[in-house]
Amino acid sequence: MTQQLKNIRIILINTTHPGNIGSVARAMKVMGLDQLHLVTPLKFPDAQATAMASGADDLLHDAIVHDSLDSALEGVSLVFGTSARLRTLSMPQMDVRAAAERAVVESQQHEVAILFGRERHGLVNEEMQRCHYLLNIPTNPDYSSLNLSQAVQVLSYELRVAALGESGITSEPVDYSPVDSSQMERFFEHLEQSLLDTRFLNPAQPKMLMARLRRLYLRARPDQNEINILRGILAASQRACEADFDKPESPADDA
Ligand code: SAH
Repeated sequence: MTQQLKNIRIILINTTHPGNIGSVARAMKVMGLDQLHLVTPLKFPDAQATAMASGADDLLHDAIVHDSLDSALEGVSLVFGTSARLRTLSMPQMDVRAAAERAVVESQQHEVAILFGRERHGLVNEEMQRCHYLLNIPTNPDYSSLNLSQAVQVLSYELRVAALGESGITSEPVDYSPVDSSQMERFFEHLEQSLLDTRFLNPAQPKMLMARLRRLYLRARPDQNEINILRGILAASQRACEADFDKPESPADDA
């Protein structure tokens, strides 16, 4: 079972209370998850974390601390973000149960991550825009926010249930391998630069263009070949555009 969940990592962003990190470790271990990644925790390691982990301190010991989300997402090809309130309605959303099933199936082929936000502010937009899907645990609309470790507990439980259901290998294998998060980020940088070079993107008025394009390409989940083609198209249009801008005005224009 733990074997089936081994490629699923839980990423906590900027956690304030070390006790929550310990409770998360416990919530994970009890469901057979063991990949804990921490992005800039306020205090870690810490005695409160160890106390709350109550026997899951091996997860704390093995937890990987990162100084950026980029680093925590290295090698990850499917990213889910969790949110107490789905304010960003434009982001694709998935039901928690369906997401857990998808995570278990895909994790047999590549790394999957689930992001959890700050106790106070959750995830910021830029972090949500790294996600393929946002997940919301249905709660009382008048009191919707779970404690961080409780949210991890619910997700971890769903992952375990999904893994139990998967033990008979009932799902279709994923027959292609989407590129990982850092390759997608390099693609987005290239895309933005070429939109600037071709003057499609006005830096004075970027509006929501990049956010919308991120959503489009994340939905498509390109593989290595497809990313190479897309980057080739961008490079060719940059070259064509450069040549065009360098060309002297035609004599007819001067007349
Ligand atoms: N005030 C914050 C709540 C943060 S709770 C906000 O409104 O976003 C800390 C983290 O726990 C969240 O970032 C999210 O990762 C998780 N969480 C809490 N309640 C959740 C819910 N109902 N569904 C999904 N994730 C939840």
